[in-house]
Amino acid sequence: MPTCPRCHQAVESQAIACPYCRTALKAHGHPGIPLYRAEGTAYLCETCTYHEDNTCNFPQRPYAKECTLYHDHLQPIVTVSQRSQKWQRLPALRGNEGWLILAGLLVVSLLIALSNQS
Ligand code: SF4
Ligand SMILES: [Zn+2]
Repeated sequence: MPTCPRCHQAVESQAIACPYCRTALKAHGHPGIPLYRAEGTAYLCETCTYHEDNTCNFPQRPYAKECTLYHDHLQPIVTVSQRSQKWQRLPALRGNEGWLILAGLLVVSLLIALSNQS
């Protein structure tokens, strides 16, 4: 379970704000948008991939203390093509995507038909 960066209490991973000190934990009040915070006197940009490769054009760079796009330069970036390669590596699913979609539609249709009968 993650901890609050300010009061260090354990908080739910989807929590928008810390229930103890009300520190915002997600950006724009949305649980799907993480908000990264620098600790102490350091700036996030110092360890950010996008500062290192000079692709960031945020105005707060290089002195960001909070950022939604921060990416630790020590962590690998998973690109869309790498994600799709992972999908292609699932041998049981390869070439059967059409059948899986058809089966899903069939199941949904059956569920709708059954719910209409009752
Ligand atoms: S994405 Fe955020 S943390 Fe990274 S360089 Fe840009 S402003 Fe700094
Ligand atoms: Zn807190």
